[in-house]
Amino acid sequence: MLRRELPLEAREGHVIRLAEGCIAPAPDGGVLQPVIPWTEQMQPLGYWHDVPVALSLEAEAGDDWPSGREWLARLPESRFGLVSTSLQVAAWLRNHRFCGRCGAPAARLDAEFAMHCHGCGHRNYPRISPCIITLVTHGESLLLARSPRFPPRRYSTLAGFIEPGESAEEAVRREIFEEVGVSVGRIRYFRSQAWPFPHALMLGFFAEAASRRIRIDGVEIADAAWFSPRQLPQLPPLYSISRALIETHLAEVAAR
Ligand SMILES: [Zn+2]
Repeated sequence: MLRRELPLEAREGHVIRLAEGCIAPAPDGGVLQPVIPWTEQMQPLGYWHDVPVALSLEAEAGDDWPSGREWLARLPESRFGLVSTSLQVAAWLRNHRFCGRCGAPAARLDAEFAMHCHGCGHRNYPRISPCIITLVTHGESLLLARSPRFPPRRYSTLAGFIEPGESAEEAVRREIFEEVGVSVGRIRYFRSQAWPFPHALMLGFFAEAASRRIRIDGVEIADAAWFSPRQLPQLPPLYSISRALIETHLAEVAAR
């Protein structure tokens, strides 16, 4: 596990080299480079088994640097926090170099993840965007949908950003109705997962459909259908909360 405490006194440690959403492979096949002295530009991240870890943002990715998604698919689940934290902190550093209020250059603070503007005092912290992700069920059946961006034949659960002023439960009902025209009854919270593409926090829910009639919007959703547990399409990757929702439902059906 990544220990989330900034190594303030550390001058050396592991380094994660990141550029353009890709991470350099280390000699051992993982993402943690062997311990080296750190430079001023590196961003301390935390501790891995009591050894400090810093992020090195580099200009260009090498040809053999896997993408963030490829790393998540390849590494054991215990490394998920390391990879997702690196990707999200990198996106934040890249996107908050200037103050959003007065436009002056912003400077990184040491004690926490914060970009500080010396012009007006405004601070920016890593952005985390809450999203709901929901498996809609009707008895044993699962409602799964395809985004136009998905690989061929892939279907997944429904997801969307929470709007300002909206609760997660309201977002579940609104997104499902907007995307597939289905009203849902009982909603049950599952769990959450950081999703670093680029900075979502997915809040997982199960929702019971009030009826099976589907009406898709044709924009965010290319197709949606009810699936039986015995005849499923290609599912999202194993490391995703979407897949965990589906597998949990299948296990509950099998146990009935
Ligand atoms: Zn400012």
